[in-house]
Amino acid sequence: MSDHEQGLRLFGKTIPLYLQILVALVLAVVLGIALGAGNPSPQSAEIAKDLALPCTLVLKALRALATPLILLAVLHAFLTTNIPGRSGRRLAILLVTNTTAAILIGLLVANVLRPGTWEKINLAGSGEAINKQFDPWGLVDSGVPDAVLKPLVDNNVIQLIVLALSFGIVLRAIKAQQIEEGKTGYQALEHVITILFEAVVRILSWVIMLVPIAVFGIVGSTVALKGFSPFKALAAFVIAVVLALSLQTCYYLIRVHFGSWVSPRLFLTGGIDAFLTAFSTDSSVATMPVTFRGLLEKVGLRESSASLGALVGSNFNNDGTALYEAMSALFIAQVIGLNLNLEQQFVVILTSIFASVGAAGIPEAGLVTMTLVFTAVGLPTQYIALLITVDWFLDRCRTVINVMGDMTVSCLLDGKEPKSEREPDLEEAFASEVD
Ligand code: ASP
Repeated sequence: MSDHEQGLRLFGKTIPLYLQILVALVLAVVLGIALGAGNPSPQSAEIAKDLALPCTLVLKALRALATPLILLAVLHAFLTTNIPGRSGRRLAILLVTNTTAAILIGLLVANVLRPGTWEKINLAGSGEAINKQFDPWGLVDSGVPDAVLKPLVDNNVIQLIVLALSFGIVLRAIKAQQIEEGKTGYQALEHVITILFEAVVRILSWVIMLVPIAVFGIVGSTVALKGFSPFKALAAFVIAVVLALSLQTCYYLIRVHFGSWVSPRLFLTGGIDAFLTAFSTDSSVATMPVTFRGLLEKVGLRESSASLGALVGSNFNNDGTALYEAMSALFIAQVIGLNLNLEQQFVVILTSIFASVGAAGIPEAGLVTMTLVFTAVGLPTQYIALLITVDWFLDRCRTVINVMGDMTVSCLLDGKEPKSEREPDLEEAFASEVD
């Protein structure tokens, strides 16, 4: 699901998604101005309201796809990845600490800069905010679903992850048992889950193809009804997210410096190909082979650490996405005048961790799972429409951080001693494998 695949073909040339969105933005601004730019006539106002419809539909589709995507992504990762026992525990600890740090950095920046208060926004067609009472302990209490299929119906991310992890762990154990006994029954299920996962990802790519139309509609509608002030608030949000992602980069460099033999300079130069690929493809999964090769050939890590961090870890490790989801929730809460206290922000942390674990490393996956974070803390998901207009850019930035996070985990797993000359050199074999 790279940009290349998503591109619209025109006159024999592929127009990448981000370019389509940019064109949609420009056309929408022109239309919004023509319709009144904040001062529409009653007739223009009617047209402007209808323009919001494609965005509403895209959001509904994203929300509907979020639960199967998370469930299948987690099951798929559990069934198909190979994690050795002790390293698995280390990997899990590193993933949780890095993701938590990312979310805390995001919340810190959002609390200090308060980008949602820089400009008043009242989104066209958003309706009333759901001012649901936050209840973190109730959330823990409801972690176990009443019925197995209920989390899928209710879009409850915590219950869904409980369900996905339980089935993932059990299926993995059954697979291991069957392999030991020489049975192959598990393969059928593995294939079904792989195919279903791919099917959801493909349907998601159809929805993503409609994003330029949704952006055109929502931006045209917003400009016509409210003028340009909502976009000033979004500029504040973009600045805040980019700042937080930069701080997360500093966090990685410090961790790599103190926790591994790799110098921050080597880390950055060795990862440059992966960072550029991540920014241009918008997908950490598509970048995986480049990340892996960079770690092996340019940084010089052991094959085991490179594969555990960049191939296995990347299935679960989406720090940039976690940071973004937490910041978006806080931003929208600020926009609609809800002050989230510490307990409520704890709920944001918890759900963002889960939502980032479930976000597949493909374009816009974070936008999909964000609907679940919003639902969990009682924020109106209609406001995600506003974020769609800047997501094409922020998604690229957070994908780079997702890749950097995988590289950091690999370096930390490699430890303080560089690979010695005597250790078997598997680079060539693996380099040819990822080519
Ligand atoms: N595009 C991101 C990635 O591939 C996921 C996201 O949407 O946050 O890692």
